[in-house]
Amino acid sequence: MESTLVLIKPSGIERSLIGDILSRFQKKGLIIAGLKMMKLDENILREHYAHLVDRSFFPMILASMMACPVIAICLKGKDAIEVVRNMVGSTDASKAAPGTIRGDFSMSSQENIVHASDSAENAAIEIRRFFQDNEIFDYKPDYFRYLYAPDGK
Ligand code: ADP
Repeated sequence: MESTLVLIKPSGIERSLIGDILSRFQKKGLIIAGLKMMKLDENILREHYAHLVDRSFFPMILASMMACPVIAICLKGKDAIEVVRNMVGSTDASKAAPGTIRGDFSMSSQENIVHASDSAENAAIEIRRFFQDNEIFDYKPDYFRYLYAPDGK
């Protein structure tokens, strides 16, 4: 099982999409291992988007991500990092495939509704960035035996 970090960005909160987004992940069979609302500050955003701090649009990302609280979610499941990235869709939401969260709900490269970890290394770092150890819960829902074969496939 892998764990990954998702943020519902202010664009998703302001557009009342929290329920739709959580529902997609739950229906897919991903376990919600952690969930909280938090207001991000410049320090955490400079860390989280360190690869973009020198880009001309970075001040706009900061303003956008601090516009209102975000929802941080830790999702768990088989190949969860790739599964969630595929469900989220490409960065430029105007080109994201229909059926993806960005493709169905948004139009913009910046206001693209959700963040999702892009690698195992970043998922581990990002989960630690947004959650304390005691905010992540390890449990196995009863529906598990209908979600995976006995060998976990
Ligand atoms: P992703 O979120 O798909 O992993 P990146 O790590 O490249 O993509 O970018 C992080 C976030 O920075 C994007 O989700 C988006 O909100 C913002 N961003 C990226 N590229 C642009 C751009 N060209 N213009 C405005 N915002 C951007």
